[in-house]
Amino acid sequence: MTFASFGLPVPIAKGIRAAGLTEPTAIQSKAIPVIMQGNDIIGVAESGSGKTGAYLIPLLSRFLDRSIRLRGIILVPTRELAAYVETRARDYARFTDLKIGVVYTGSPLAAQERQLRDEPIHLLVATPGRLLELHARGVLNFADVEILVIEEGDRTVGLGLAPDVRKLLKLLPETRQTLLFTLTMPPELNRLAKEALVEPVRVDVAPIAARPAAGITQAIYPVPRELKFDLLDDLLSRTEVRSTILFTRPAPPRSGWRASSSATATRSRCSTSIRTRASASARWTICVAGVCRSWWRARRPRAASTWRARRTWSTSTSRRRRRTTSTVSAAAAGPTRWATRSRS
Ligand code: AMP
Repeated sequence: MTFASFGLPVPIAKGIRAAGLTEPTAIQSKAIPVIMQGNDIIGVAESGSGKTGAYLIPLLSRFLDRSIRLRGIILVPTRELAAYVETRARDYARFTDLKIGVVYTGSPLAAQERQLRDEPIHLLVATPGRLLELHARGVLNFADVEILVIEEGDRTVGLGLAPDVRKLLKLLPETRQTLLFTLTMPPELNRLAKEALVEPVRVDVAPIAARPAAGITQAIYPVPRELKFDLLDDLLSRTEVRSTILFTRPAPPRSGWRASSSATATRSRCSTSIRTRASASARWTICVAGVCRSWWRARRPRAASTWRARRTWSTSTSRRRRRTTSTVSAAAAGPTRWATRSRS
């Protein structure tokens, strides 16, 4: 299949060619015709499969022909994904006059409100909470919305955003077309899909067992609890480790912080400017929850007064210090020394 077989408008065909898309990927080949026919869809595909193009290309093609009104909304779980989808949309629409907006939690509300009032748009990429806030302020009119996309549905419900999505469903026109993209189908998403979609066509291009993308190796390091920060420290200080995202459980400290001389660390509740600065630096770490807190404590034992008084500190520190040498040498030996299971 080729992009030409979809009969795309010339400016969109030109835009995707300029963005380097030559042949449709599997999800694009299957989903674009279904979406262009006006069906609701559940697209099961992983990140990097071309799923952003799978919904953006038909959306942008459809919005070309009429006046500027808000006609499409793409709901995303995170501001990073919002920024990514907006960039892709602008890429594909670069030879059109389509107006694309993006709003997400964590950026000043007033600026987004002013921009939406000043510049009408065809397509809005948004996180659910911020979209509700802006709607409550009377900035957005949903009356002309024809298409709703729910991106990364599994992550959306995993982050507890299903109630916000449900509120939005009540505010949007019932006659809309709804597209859901996800890699997995947890029960909560299944319930949400039943409320949001009408007779959806299911398009599934996910691998049988979800594997990491090509070039990614996964490894598990079984490690005693008291040694894991030393191991983490050792892994992150290796020269081949340039950019790191740590997913952990409880929340790390409130402000942005430096984890080491060479790594900027930030976290999910950090301001956008800190996150942007962190991701722009040559070597960075993003911490999404709390191992970092303990890791940071372990690295900076005298710097934080809030935890110094903890009864357990002196015991755990001396235990950790005693065992540092063996941890680091075991980590240096590589994952196999740690009974690693890896898939590629
Ligand atoms: P996506 O999953 O849509 O975010 O795409 C992941 C990456 O694959 C992006 O860098 C896209 O530019 C690229 N990509 C998407 N569709 C195609 C395609 N049909 N041909 C080549 N690259 C693509």
